[in-house]
Amino acid sequence: MYNAKAYSATDEKSPLASTTIARRDPTPNDVQIEILFCGICHSDLHQVRNEWSGVMPTVYPCIPGHEIVGRVTKAGSDVTKFKVGDLAAVGCMVDSDRVCPECRQGFEQFCPNLTLTYNFPDKHTGGVTYGGYSDSIVVDQQFVLKIPANLDLAGAAPLLCAGITTYSPMHYWGVTKGKKVGVVGLGGLGHMGVKFAHALGAHVVLFTTSPNKKEDALRLGADEVVISRNADEMAKHAGSFDFILDAVSADHDINAYLGLLRRDGNLCLVGAPEKPLAVAAFNLLFGRRSLSGSPIGGIAETQEMLNFCGRHNITADVEIIPIQKVNEAYDRLLKADVKYRFVIDMASLKNEA
Ligand SMILES: [Zn+2]
Ligand SMILES: [Zn+2]
Repeated sequence: MYNAKAYSATDEKSPLASTTIARRDPTPNDVQIEILFCGICHSDLHQVRNEWSGVMPTVYPCIPGHEIVGRVTKAGSDVTKFKVGDLAAVGCMVDSDRVCPECRQGFEQFCPNLTLTYNFPDKHTGGVTYGGYSDSIVVDQQFVLKIPANLDLAGAAPLLCAGITTYSPMHYWGVTKGKKVGVVGLGGLGHMGVKFAHALGAHVVLFTTSPNKKEDALRLGADEVVISRNADEMAKHAGSFDFILDAVSADHDINAYLGLLRRDGNLCLVGAPEKPLAVAAFNLLFGRRSLSGSPIGGIAETQEMLNFCGRHNITADVEIIPIQKVNEAYDRLLKADVKYRFVIDMASLKNEA
């Protein structure tokens, strides 16, 4: 074991603070990564504050962070994918059983024995996994991704969660040139959804409640912006969408969007509203429409997404902060006061004792 610097939460009420943690020494298949940037995902905040206690009770100290990019500092003797000095990235998963039907088909995200990047039982240490708000991490090479050299590293970090979460369902539901695609909500996820749908060649319509987001949406790649509170504007698009990506985590009426789908259209949820959503059955019956959900993506698909981003030069729009501002960033995240993802510059962790 070796010591790594990190920022941790010690209970659900205290702010995150500087700490030292023990990481495992790399085993033959492991890659040790110096973390350069780590994105702040809304789920970090949920877990730090134990807001998912029903599904995933938080174990303290909790070190969040699953949008990790950095550089390889050590490679185990059996590592073939990476060498010291290579850029590397880690997303929401660090291990799985690799033998179940899901893993065999490249759907590690659905593996019943998946290991998430933080706050999850760690078979190596007997404790829980520690995430990316740290100066280093050790991960099995199979769960480490390659970053195209042309991408801005800070902007690439959010691709590991926000990116794959929006890319995977678009890929699955066949978003391509000639399709009409809606994206609901222009936050961390939604802004990636707009970029991907645009790069895939679709006609992109962004739905928002905030008229002041219009300019940004157009800049990010939307062809049209609809103010969702305006019933007339909504009605103009009735029955016309092939696919709608719903990236809203707040309570909202999805029936308003289901009615905009054409025959066999699909609305996919990637946000997770706390309360159950009401669905009017007729909105699904008419037009054989469907409603789906999607979490992150498999490892191979995540690499494919990163390569796609490399070809199209896609990164997240980010606000880079030193780790000392992480608690302030959480407060701002709650007010949706970020364009569009906070990313921690991990060099700032060197200033901590
Ligand atoms: Zn995330
Ligand atoms: Zn599996």
